Parts: sequence; C-alpha cells; structure tokens
Amino acid sequence: MPSVIDNSCIKCGLCASICPVSAMHLADTQMVIDPEVCIDCGACIAECPQGAITPDSEASAETVQFNAEQAKIAPSA
Ligand code: SF4
Ligand code: SF4
Repeated sequence: MPSVIDNSCIKCGLCASICPVSAMHLADTQMVIDPEVCIDCGACIAECPQGAITPDSEASAETVQFNAEQAKIAPSA
C-alpha cells in the first residue's frame, strides 16, 4: 500500500529529503510518489506540512493514477 501525494502539495521538498528509498519525483504541479519504489514506511506522512500525503487506500482514484503516471516521467526529487 504505497503512499500518494495530492494536489495540496506546495513542493517544499521535505518529504523527498527524508524518504529512505528516494521514491519522490518532482512533477510540474506537485511532488508525486513512485508506487513501485515506495516501501510504505509512512515517514513522509508525518513530515508533510500540508497533510498532502496519505496511503493510497485513502486517496482518490485520480490522485493514485496521477502519482503513478507522473512518477514515470518527472525527474527524481
Ligand atoms: S512512505 Fe516511506 S518509502 Fe514511501 S514515499 Fe513516504 S518516506 Fe518514502
Ligand atoms: S512534504 Fe508535502 S508539501 Fe512538501 S513536497 Fe512533500 S508532499 Fe509536497
């Protein structure tokens, strides 16, 4: 159950700085998480000042799809 980021992200970079597996990618509009890399440690959820990160089971289908698609094309953060 990977974590995902919603569109309230302000691209502060805090999550990317603490992720142990470098799962974050910086898309044009927000940070996203690569679901194939995230190990579901949960560390980033507590760090986000926006509350933008949740388990994918608690996010919208659009958010889950956006993270997976953008992680393939956006640069690593
Ligand atoms: S849950 Fe852990 S592994 Fe997954 S993106 Fe957040 S910090 Fe990285
Ligand atoms: S910590 Fe939250 S607001 Fe900052 S880049 Fe990560 S998801 Fe976006």
